[in-house]
Amino acid sequence: MPFSLRSLIGDIGAGLAGLLYPALCLGCERRLAADGPPAALCASCLRGLPRPEPDAARALLGAAPVEAAVALWAFDAGGAVQRVQHALKYGGRPSLGVPLGRLLGRALRAGGAGGADLVVPVPLSPTRLLERGYNQAAALADGVADALGAEVAPDLLARTRATQRQATLARPARVANVEGAFALRAGADVAGRRVLLVDDVLTTGATAAAAARTLAEGGAAVSVGALALA
Ligand SMILES: [Zn+2]
Repeated sequence: MPFSLRSLIGDIGAGLAGLLYPALCLGCERRLAADGPPAALCASCLRGLPRPEPDAARALLGAAPVEAAVALWAFDAGGAVQRVQHALKYGGRPSLGVPLGRLLGRALRAGGAGGADLVVPVPLSPTRLLERGYNQAAALADGVADALGAEVAPDLLARTRATQRQATLARPARVANVEGAFALRAGADVAGRRVLLVDDVLTTGATAAAAARTLAEGGAAVSVGALALA
C-alpha cells in the first residue's frame, strides 16, 4: 500500500481525535460502540444503506471487457454513503478503506465475483496522489484482498498521462479523458490471471472501463468492485 507521511499524520490525528471525541456514526451521528462494525457506521445505519440493482454495475460498464461487476451501495447524494465516501476520499481517513474494503469483498463473494488472483486499485495520477497523500482505491483494495484471501497488486496499473477531474466533464468527454490513460507496469504479466479492479465510486464507469481494457489487453480476466454506484 502506498504510504505517505501525510496519511500517517492523518491516522495519528484520527487516533488522537478518537481519544478526545468518541467516534460517531457517519449515518446517524450516534456514538459508535467499540465492538460495532469497524467502518464508521453503526450496525443499524450499515443495514439501511441503499443497495444498487444487482446487474446495475455490470450494465454501466457496457461493452468493457469485464466478466462481473459489483457495487456495494447506491450513491445517495447528501446521505450516509456520500459521507462515508467523502471521509475516505477527502477526509484524510485512509484507515477507513480497509474495513470498507472487507465489506466490499464480502459483497463481491456474495455476488459471485469473489474469485480473484490479484486485487488492483484504479491508480491516481502522481499529482493527485501528492495532493491527497493516499489513494483511496488502494486502501479499499487492501481490505478486499484481505476478505477474499487474494494478493493485492497496488502498482500493477499506472497512469500514463494526467487526466482532468472526471467530475468536471460531461459523459462523452469523460470517455475521451481516460481512454489510453492506463498502462501495465513494465514487466507485469497478467495473462490468464483473474484480476479484480477496485475503485471507490462508479459514476459513468468510463475510468473503470479504460483500466479494465488495459488489463484485458494484457490477457487478464477482469472483474470490477466498487464501494458505490452513482
Ligand atoms: Zn448510525
